[in-house]
Amino acid sequence: VSYDELGQIIKSINIFINKLHKSHEKLSKAKERLNKLYVTDRLTNLYNRNKIDKIIELEIKKKNRHENIFSVILMDVDHFKLINDTYGHVVGDMVLKEFADILKNNVRDTDFVGRWGGEEFIIICIQTDEKGASALARHLRLKIENFDFTTVGKETASFGIAACSNSDDAKSIVENADKALYEAKNSGRNKVVVYNSK
Ligand code: GH3
Ligand code: MG
Ligand code: MG
Repeated sequence: VSYDELGQIIKSINIFINKLHKSHEKLSKAKERLNKLYVTDRLTNLYNRNKIDKIIELEIKKKNRHENIFSVILMDVDHFKLINDTYGHVVGDMVLKEFADILKNNVRDTDFVGRWGGEEFIIICIQTDEKGASALARHLRLKIENFDFTTVGKETASFGIAACSNSDDAKSIVENADKALYEAKNSGRNKVVVYNSK
């Protein structure tokens, strides 16, 4: 092989390596996007229910090993059906996005905010007992009460809170928060109620 030919071969190899690099980058980015889609709620950009389930399971494991405490806040928009019925689904969706933003903008970086179902949201408060979670929920309740939602104006939401106890699993802790939320709804809405095992 002549000196010139060798130069050509090296050049071709370099071009090939560059192409490989670019493909690899594209693949990594596609993988990243897919992973994000897998854990994200499309409408609100919050974590989806599947991811929140995984987070709770992990936090329970951590709690059992290191005594890490955490609490769960369930929030449900009050009379949301009325918004859809009065203004339509598109406005309803926009209101849900605004709710999501209020939650995300008012929790700690270490907390996890997710969409649990239709107009129901969930916050996993890391290293937080029921007092701390209750203080956060009261703060959020006020933020929502004072917020001017696009098109619909004033809205409220109800909150149920449960701290993770030693006997809890991923299912029971959310069930407890849901019982407290039910209580908040039944006692007039726009309220924060903490689950009491007694
Ligand atoms: P309450 O105060 O008891 O919670 O009353 P509510 O009207 O908020 O509760 P209800 O369960 O009666 O209605 C919830 C509504 O939320 C019904 C459903 O159509 C609507 N919904 C669920 N998911 C979505 C969504 O992604 N977008 C829109 N626009 N509406 C949704
Ligand atoms: Mg609901
Ligand atoms: Mg509701």
